[in-house]
Parts: sequence; structure tokens; C-alpha cells
Amino acid sequence: METMEQNKISAEKAIALEDKHGAHNYHPLPVVLERGEGVFVWDVKGKQYFDFLSAYSAVNQGHCHPKIVSALLEQAQKLTLTSRAFYNDSLGEYEQFITSYFGYDKVLPMNTGAEGVETALKLARKWAYEKKGVSENEAKIIVCKNNFHGRTISIVSASNDEEARKNFGPFTPGIISVEYNNATALAALLSDKSIAAFLIEPIQGEAGVVIPDEGYLKKCYDLCKANNVLFIADEIQSGLGRTGKILACDHEGVHPDVLILGKALSGGTYPVAAVLASDEVMLCIKPGQHGSTYGGNPLACKVGIAALTVLKEEQLSENSERLGKILLKELQAIQAAYPDVVKTVRGKGLWAAMVINEKNGKSAWDVCVELMNNGLLAKPTHGDTIRFAPPLVINETQLMECVAIIKNTITLFQ
Ligand SMILES: *Cc1c(COP(=O)(O)O)cnc(C)c1O
Repeated sequence: METMEQNKISAEKAIALEDKHGAHNYHPLPVVLERGEGVFVWDVKGKQYFDFLSAYSAVNQGHCHPKIVSALLEQAQKLTLTSRAFYNDSLGEYEQFITSYFGYDKVLPMNTGAEGVETALKLARKWAYEKKGVSENEAKIIVCKNNFHGRTISIVSASNDEEARKNFGPFTPGIISVEYNNATALAALLSDKSIAAFLIEPIQGEAGVVIPDEGYLKKCYDLCKANNVLFIADEIQSGLGRTGKILACDHEGVHPDVLILGKALSGGTYPVAAVLASDEVMLCIKPGQHGSTYGGNPLACKVGIAALTVLKEEQLSENSERLGKILLKELQAIQAAYPDVVKTVRGKGLWAAMVINEKNGKSAWDVCVELMNNGLLAKPTHGDTIRFAPPLVINETQLMECVAIIKNTITLFQ
């Protein structure tokens, strides 16, 4: 204990080091975390917080889940990386596990979400040329306005967020965008025979937990089917129990042609992403045409199996569905009581957004700082919107404690 205390870095020092030596590509809340367990994280001073961001839904299974951590440790002492130049004894087992879990023929393993999205885009183009018969270099991908799919050049080419795009051009061609939650607008674009795919977040996370009308996903999926266009779901944030089902697409019985997973696929321990598809689509890519040194490494495979197993064993989707209803009801009550502070709330499963009325000079950022002071960590997304996404292992008593923190904080802003 003595020596641990001596090695302990102060919050001020940790922040100053990041500021001096790290790129300034994030603007974190001023809290320095050193430990996590379940729904809680602790800062360097020992103060406990509820984590209401869950690393953008990467930590759905809770911080340092013992089953996931032990899978990681066990494999780390045995074999961590072979590259795909050789077979390893874990990849096949993982591939069988994840494809049967989600009902697909094949999986292509990647590391980060952005790589998963890039993989899906490459797959869609290849399929368009080799199966659909689109002429060379003509393939187009339709994306939605206000999407977030990651940070690579091609992915920001699909973005309309000026912050994400400015001075990063020239951009990747062959991407067109359509209004979200508007199936009629999508239908109008699909008559173009060079469309390869429609890429969509079933719920837009970074845009502020934007939930489309019921039936929209199914309509889009049916339109894609009717026009021989691939329906690609980016479930990196919406998937793995977050919305009250294993996948957000499950709410409408939609089975995407291409499914992209990441974030909670490792429960926050290690970067693991995956792209799932049918043989018809996946076998368009042949040896040498796509890959990743770390993709499909044994460590990732064991972690992925453990993370998905925990999700089912602990019925985290069911917990998300049940507690999500309570959370939304409580947030609606707060909104009704303090309409001058809270403009609107919305949510699905344990994924909610609170839009702050910034008229009186107080911002969503200020609310998050006060929530932090009161023991709950959340972060504004897109200006005036605060996203709430606790680990799905939260229980009802803890959730009600969090609701009380949120309510007490909001009263300070009247
Ligand atoms: C986080 C996220 C990504 C990108 O994942 P990274 O691992 O950060 O590259 C892509 N799509 C969605 C919907 C996300 O939430």
C-alpha cells in the first residue's frame, strides 16, 4: 500500500502530462481514472463514480469483468499473436462461435470499429463488381446524414460533420448520403443500378442517440432486398445488448446482409471488431485482398468468446430492456419537472439522451461537470445532448441512485 501510494500520480500531473505530450484530439472531462469494477470507476484520489458512458458502450459487461479478464490472462500466457500467415488453435473455434451466435456463414475478424466499417465498405464494393455486375469503379455506397462510423479518410468522406472533415480532404468518391429516418428518400436513390450498399446505424449514437420511427429499419431492409443492394448495419455502438436486444436490428426482425461489431465485443479489455456476412458476400474477398496483422489473433478470439458468453449468461439484454424502461420513465419525469433545463429526453434500453436547454448560459458540458462532482460520469455528444449509457450489469438500486444524482444535478440548473 505504501509503495502504491508513492507511485500514485496526482490528477493535476496526469492531466498536465497528457496535455504536454499527447495530441490534442480529445477534450476529456477533468477526471483521472485509475480503477474500475462493474458499474463503478475510481479516480486517483479514490473517489467513486458511476460510469454512465461505458467507453461509448465498449464496457457493456461492466469494468474488468472477471470472466473476460481471466480469458485474457489465460490466453496471454499461452499465445498472443501468430499473424494469419499460420493457423492458430483459437480462431476457428471463435469463428464457429460468433457465426452461430449471430446466424451468419462467415466472419472477418478485425480490431477496431473503423477497420470493421472499412472492411464492410470494401466487401460491398467487391460484391457489387463481382456479383451484382456494377461497372468498374462505378459502385456507390449510400450513408445516412449525421452518421458516425469512425475516423479513417474513407469514413469521414461519408460524414457531414464539418469538425470531422475540415482540411482532411480530398475525400473518397462513391459515397452518397440520404436523410436518416426517411425510407422514401432512400427508395428514390435505389433505382440507380450502381448502388452497392446502404450503410446505417440502427440508432445513431454519436448524433445523440437518435432513434428512428418504428418500422423504418424494416422498410429500408425490404427496399434494399427489392433492389439487390446490401443492407449493412453498423452495430458497433447499438449492438450487444445496449438497446434491450442483442442487436438493435432485432427489434424489427431485420437480419443485416453485413453486420459490423466492435466495442463491447471485448467488454472493454482489448480492441476486437468483426464483420459478419453470407458466403455469397464474404467469399468475394480472396487471400491477399484484405487483412490485418492483429485481426483474429488468439487473444482477441478468447476475449470475444468470453464477452459474448457473459452477455447471454448474465442476460444483459434483458436487464437493459427492463431497466431501460425505468430509466426512460424517470428521465421523462425529470424533464417534465424541469422543462427550463431539460428540453427533451429519449432512449431505448439502457441508452438514453437528455437534451439540455442551453438558453440560460448553462451548457450540457456544465451539467456533465456537475454530474461528475456528484459522482456520475457522462459526456456531452453534439453540443447540447448528454448520452447516458451505463454498463448493462447495473441493478435497479444502483440505477435509482443514478437517477437521484441526475435529478439533484438538474435542480441546480433551474
Ligand atoms: C465507435 C464507433 C465506430 C468506430 O469504432 P472505433 O473502434 O473507435 O474505430 C464506428 N461506428 C460506430 C457506430 C461507433 O459508435
